[in-house]
Order: sequence, then C-alpha cells, then structure tokens
Amino acid sequence: MQRIHAALARIRSGDYGLCTVCEEEIAIRRLETDPVAMLCIACASRQEQR
Ligand SMILES: [Zn+2]
Repeated sequence: MQRIHAALARIRSGDYGLCTVCEEEIAIRRLETDPVAMLCIACASRQEQR
C-alpha cells in the first residue's frame, strides 16, 4: 500500500504514469494493480505476446 501511495504521488508530479513506449497515460487502475507498471495496457499485452 505504501508503494501505491508513492506511485500516485509521482503521477501527480508528472514524471510517472506515462507509457514509456507510446507515452499514453497508464490507467490508474492498472497502476493500482501493478504500481511499477511502465507500459500502458496495449503495449504491455503486446510485449507479453512475444
Ligand atoms: Zn503504450
């Protein structure tokens, strides 16, 4: 829970919560499930298929 809180704080500061591939915003729900997610759902599922 602490890590999620830190992640949400970083989202507000603007240097977190964007996909590192397409720079789309990562859904908050996705970050709540996986606070260290660096990819949006689309890019993550694309990577998992490889
Ligand atoms: Zn993406």
